[in-house]
Amino acid sequence: MPTPIGNLEDMTFRSVKTLQDVDLIAAEDTRNTMKLLTHFKIETDLISFHEHNTAQRIPELIEKLEQGINIAQVSDAGTPSISDPGKELVKAAIENDISVVPLPGATASISALIASGIEPQPFYFFGFLPRKGKERTEALENLSQRVETSIIYESPKRVVKTLTDLKDSLGEDRQVTLARELTKIHEAFLRGTVSQTLEYYQEHDPKGEFVIIISGKTIEKNAEMTDAEIINAIDLQIQE
Ligand code: SAM
Repeated sequence: MPTPIGNLEDMTFRSVKTLQDVDLIAAEDTRNTMKLLTHFKIETDLISFHEHNTAQRIPELIEKLEQGINIAQVSDAGTPSISDPGKELVKAAIENDISVVPLPGATASISALIASGIEPQPFYFFGFLPRKGKERTEALENLSQRVETSIIYESPKRVVKTLTDLKDSLGEDRQVTLARELTKIHEAFLRGTVSQTLEYYQEHDPKGEFVIIISGKTIEKNAEMTDAEIINAIDLQIQE
């Protein structure tokens, strides 16, 4: 279940009630989640569940679930499984016929997308780009060819490097929006071309958390094409 990405008022009534009602909370960082629980005066027990203990924890958690113990899974912020731990536990629960109940709530991806001013549909969620090597080159090449709007996550330390690489692979004129510190006091959006946003962040130190929304590659439209032919051309590009 999701937790706020900055503003605690984004915690839903249902999320608070669920954290109160379950028997156990599996948390990415128990100290972090404890602050949230303290704020909402929740006293439910916590157990750690993060990328380094997934393999060991899943059988333990599945055993508890099979005994009828209700468990909520949370990450540090936002929606679990979205560039966060969670997906393996969901898969294991499904394989063991245990019901998975998704709670709607905060995720940086969708908040950034809807305020970006860039076409919101169709969109492609990428998450974090690989940091280096062939995987990064291939990911950038993939992004450069996409006709859908793309969503990537980035740390402040790597924003300039990533914008530089985007400029090289997508060209300097592709429209992007950088959504910074969503839901927090210093929430800000920088909208412009890859070059303009790169120049800005070369002059202003990137601070806080970032989502980068990238407009899709424009397809060559022929004036005589019907709507169906345009959709078909987009589908073909998506499949490439
Ligand atoms: N599961 C989370 C979600 O649903 O948003 C994402 C977790 S991922 C480990 C963390 C990344 O999400 C950050 O590096 C940043 O790219 C993005 N992010 C999280 N909170 C954000 C915020 N308040 N503003 C902008 N980006 C944020």
